[in-house]
Amino acid sequence: MKGMLVFYPEKCSGCNVCSIVCSAYHLGVINPDRSRIRVLRKEQENLDVVNVCVQCEEKFCIQACPFDALSVYPETGAIVVDHDKCTRCRLCIKACPYNGIILDPVLNQITICDLCDGDPQCAKYCPTEAIQFVHPLASKVAHEQNKTIITLTKQIIEDP
Ligand code: SF4
Ligand code: SF4
Repeated sequence: MKGMLVFYPEKCSGCNVCSIVCSAYHLGVINPDRSRIRVLRKEQENLDVVNVCVQCEEKFCIQACPFDALSVYPETGAIVVDHDKCTRCRLCIKACPYNGIILDPVLNQITICDLCDGDPQCAKYCPTEAIQFVHPLASKVAHEQNKTIITLTKQIIEDP
């Protein structure tokens, strides 16, 4: 594992640079709907929350997949999808409390952050350092920090 992503909602300006660079890097297009990272906005509270796989300790997605289609790529710690096994049942999407998984609307494939092979573009280009790529030694603190996104995401999805 080279590192993990940590998110600091209070630093996020909602500029969407992360979702733009993600789709550009992976697909060669600018399309936040196809990005592996998304920014949810709660207008009333002027709050922006990034949703992405944060390599949670529990790996809820792997636990939820009945077809053994998900695994951890040991070199980066990112979740890998075996598209031959995946039936697109979406149970992993429902299971992830970080809203970190999408079904790509064009490819019709389950899509999860791959950490850009160890050099995440979102963290590299975020102008406010709201998303950071930290050393695995900081993972305990990082996992705790990332849990703050779960509640905020739930609140925004339930009451946008
Ligand atoms: S996709 Fe969600 S459930 Fe799976 S490892 Fe990432 S954060 Fe955890
Ligand atoms: S959509 Fe695919 S990866 Fe997700 S739980 Fe279903 S079979 Fe597994």
